[in-house]
Amino acid sequence: MSSDNVFKNFIGGQWVESTSRETFENINPADTNERIGVFQRSNAEDVAAAVAAAKSAFPGWRRTPPPKRAEILFRAGRLLAERKEALARDMTREMGKPLEEARGDVQEAIDMTFYMAGEGRRLFGQTTTSELPSKFCMSVRSPIGVCGLITPWNFPMAIPAWKMMPALICGNTVVIKPAEDTPLSSFNLVRVLEEAGLPPGVLNCVSGFGPEAGAPLAHHPDVHVISFTGSTEVGREVAHAGAERFKHVCLEMGGKNVIMVMEDANLDLAIDGAVWGGFGTTGQRCTASSRIVIHKDIYSEFERRFVERALKLKVGNGIYPETQVGPLINEAQLRTVERYVEIGTGEGAQLLCGGKRLTGREYDRGWFFAPTIFSDCTPEMRISREEIFGPVVSLIPCSSLEQAIAVGNNVVYGLSSSIYTRNINNAFKAMQEMQTGIFYVNAPTIGAETHLPFGGTKQTGNGQREAATAALDFYSEWKSIYIDYSDTLQRAQIDT
Ligand code: NAD
Repeated sequence: MSSDNVFKNFIGGQWVESTSRETFENINPADTNERIGVFQRSNAEDVAAAVAAAKSAFPGWRRTPPPKRAEILFRAGRLLAERKEALARDMTREMGKPLEEARGDVQEAIDMTFYMAGEGRRLFGQTTTSELPSKFCMSVRSPIGVCGLITPWNFPMAIPAWKMMPALICGNTVVIKPAEDTPLSSFNLVRVLEEAGLPPGVLNCVSGFGPEAGAPLAHHPDVHVISFTGSTEVGREVAHAGAERFKHVCLEMGGKNVIMVMEDANLDLAIDGAVWGGFGTTGQRCTASSRIVIHKDIYSEFERRFVERALKLKVGNGIYPETQVGPLINEAQLRTVERYVEIGTGEGAQLLCGGKRLTGREYDRGWFFAPTIFSDCTPEMRISREEIFGPVVSLIPCSSLEQAIAVGNNVVYGLSSSIYTRNINNAFKAMQEMQTGIFYVNAPTIGAETHLPFGGTKQTGNGQREAATAALDFYSEWKSIYIDYSDTLQRAQIDT
């Protein structure tokens, strides 16, 4: 499967090279001298081979009783738990997030694996009444077919697991195309599932770039389901690809999430939340708290204390225990963040701290950026509306709950929002009015758990949800069954 850190594709139960024989390197963003591994630069031919393997494995897997499918997932969950530390270290090296956060990412994969394994003995449908006598009615979940999964780099194991586990427990077969910046964590997950006993062809993995390997997967006629997490721009292309053949498409895309801090908030708690939500994972979470709308009565104090905390954050290589903020994923992301700092300054926002790439011995071989805070932002500024995906937080003053809600909703995205208040009425009002798929009270916008639906409204998503039993609705189709034991022809709506 790998030698000299060369990782192959996994197709039909075999580890194989790309037909192109081309490869690409996976580099540590904290130290670009460190090569994590060499991966296959797959093309449409490799994708077609993986889809063919998944297609031929589908009839056998579809007929495997779900509790038997679940046994494999339970074994995989136990293997992931045993290897958690090593898997987290691999993830920190390829993605950059601090080790503690990488452990959390692996834990999310473990949680999802066990959660979906448990569904093997549930997968509940409904039994219901009939309008006719001697007739029995029920609905059952049916597998759909081959699922194409396309994933981003920011949660390199959790997101693949969110997609794979519900797809597999529902009886589908899978081809995954992981992010080109973080393929190792997906390969680690695939290896665990192979070892846990997944039959050949049920899960296939092809590494490579979006247009070369992701697009052929989205367009392939034998792929019936596409689940994509990534940018809104690429999500739109994937949606078009799916529309050609009316595929089931799940899109999880960008966010511009807001924390609202009211005048009665516990400020210590709100500042802790803003630091974690704004700068955790270097701001590279789809749920990152990139906007903070603050009541004018506490604005100055919040601003002063938040900046103090941001200046104390230890930025560095995530493998060291003292590191709180890791590097950005790559040079392109660093350039994007630099560009947004220029945009913010040009728009008249006040740069309170950060705003620049970090340099010096510790930083010169990585993509490190100082935690950055802009103050006096207006809701119309681009830094208040557009996703930056870096350690940049915009502070926006407000004078009432209603204004905070209006500003919070004034973006094209709708992933996550939160309020800090001790007023229960205001907390519930905000819960009702915020146009986001996820809402928190007295917590930042990050911290989703695997047994609740995950996803966003507006241009964050297309109405589907991941995780929880919501994921089963996406990866299965309902079959409604009517059993007439009357021995007569009974006509619904007529013989009543
Ligand atoms: P991206 O859109 O650049 O890439 C995502 C995946 O799509 C990668 O595997 C990439 O290779 C592939 N891809 C690129 N072009 C493609 C094409 N033409 N056809 C098919 N596949 C293609 O996103 P990214 O930079 O990896 O991730 C960051 C983005 O992901 C941010 O916008 C972030 O908000 C979003 N995100 C959203 C969620 C969510 O659940 N809403 C979670 C995590 C990340």
